[in-house]
Amino acid sequence: NLSTKLDRAFKTLKGQGSITEINVAATVKEIRRALVDADVNYKVAKEVTDKIKEEAMGRDVLISVSPGQLMTKIVYDELTQLMGGEKQDIVIKGEPAVILLSGLQGSGKTTFAGKLAAYLKKQNRTVLLVACDVYRPAAIDQLKVLGEQVGVEVYAEVENKNPVDISRNAIEYARKNNKKVVIIDTAGRLAVDEQMMAEIEQVKRAINPAETLFVVDSMTGQDAVNTAKTFNDRLNFDGVVLTKLDGDSRGGAALSIRAVVEKPIKFISTGEKMEALDMFYPDRMAQRILGMGDVISLVERAQQQFDEEEAKRINQKIRKNQFNFDDFLSQLEQIKKMGNLKDLVGMIPGMGKAMKDVEIDDNAFKPIEAIIKSMTPQERSQPELLNGSRRRRLAKGSGTDIQQVNNLMKQFEDMRKVMRTMNKMSQTKGGMQQMA
Ligand code: GDP
Ligand code: MG
Repeated sequence: NLSTKLDRAFKTLKGQGSITEINVAATVKEIRRALVDADVNYKVAKEVTDKIKEEAMGRDVLISVSPGQLMTKIVYDELTQLMGGEKQDIVIKGEPAVILLSGLQGSGKTTFAGKLAAYLKKQNRTVLLVACDVYRPAAIDQLKVLGEQVGVEVYAEVENKNPVDISRNAIEYARKNNKKVVIIDTAGRLAVDEQMMAEIEQVKRAINPAETLFVVDSMTGQDAVNTAKTFNDRLNFDGVVLTKLDGDSRGGAALSIRAVVEKPIKFISTGEKMEALDMFYPDRMAQRILGMGDVISLVERAQQQFDEEEAKRINQKIRKNQFNFDDFLSQLEQIKKMGNLKDLVGMIPGMGKAMKDVEIDDNAFKPIEAIIKSMTPQERSQPELLNGSRRRRLAKGSGTDIQQVNNLMKQFEDMRKVMRTMNKMSQTKGGMQQMA
């Protein structure tokens, strides 16, 4: 019924206390471990947590969220900032705009080339894919298959083994055939080697691309960071593409790479389907790294909408057993401001599943509000006054029936009973805090 639903929502949303030295130290340790578990480089993790600690100390805690939830939010903000804050688009500039892909073999360059072609084609751009992996004949076929799949032409020269020439010829071909974007797929070795580096460096110098992207497998953890550094030292690339984020990887590589090379991550690739390409959003990645479900949006919405003073005032009234219909109405308003009740409950970790089949109807509030609004101010503050004849009047005035009024009175009485019991318990055990 409604009061248990409200009760559940309140219990999770309300917490008390503040962020102190002690709970920060413990939490920071947990966070550091979580970051390292998510593949974040230890040094980077330490820097991050030091900053978080500084940020968290002495923060006022909102009545409407627990210190743990607030802490999560602080960490999340910090991670988002560290990964660049805003999403960054690739630069499409030049006639044609040239995009050069670099990275180790197996990192997902060719797959990404196909995905990027599909992505740009959707934006109504004419695209040319260029096969510059001259060492493996199968690589050309692989790109051709992908090109066909996404409906984009592939340029290849089977006999030519010089990637610089092929790239130049392809760009010339693009100009003549009105292709606005050229994506150059290159060869990679299983490990960084001098010949490969020299080769891609030459290509870059020869064609001066608008974007040089470094493609890296996010499952490779620490190696990803080292590879990124080596490539960046040689190529000074413009952005990073993280692939294979559909696996177990929690994305810590994103944080480490960003911190080490200071270049934006522009895309994430999450599967073998040609549509499985996304822009990189630092905030979403922060959520993924934290693995905290939607606590973040819950806290954000609570911060935006919950009136802290109001929450304090109501808390006081509950403690003094003075909770009345005005307060009840105000709580309903607060909850409604936070959006769809079912969504809201669903965002609480662990609750989403439990509440999946429970019917929470936002319209359920309507008759309740109508009844309360039909009360005189005196009746609202002293619900005891509501005898039979007054209840009949309320039913009439609110367009409900006496049954609904009686139900509401019963629910309200139950709520007050629970509050009184809570107060008694807290008096014996010392503080509401123990309650939670
Ligand atoms: P390249 O050597 O850098 O060109 O890498 P490929 O594009 O050929 O990819 C190597 C392997 O990884 C292939 O089997 C791809 O299907 C696979 N792959 C590429 N990107 C992804 C991705 O985002 N997720 C998954 N699960 N597999 C991928
Ligand atoms: Mg390839």
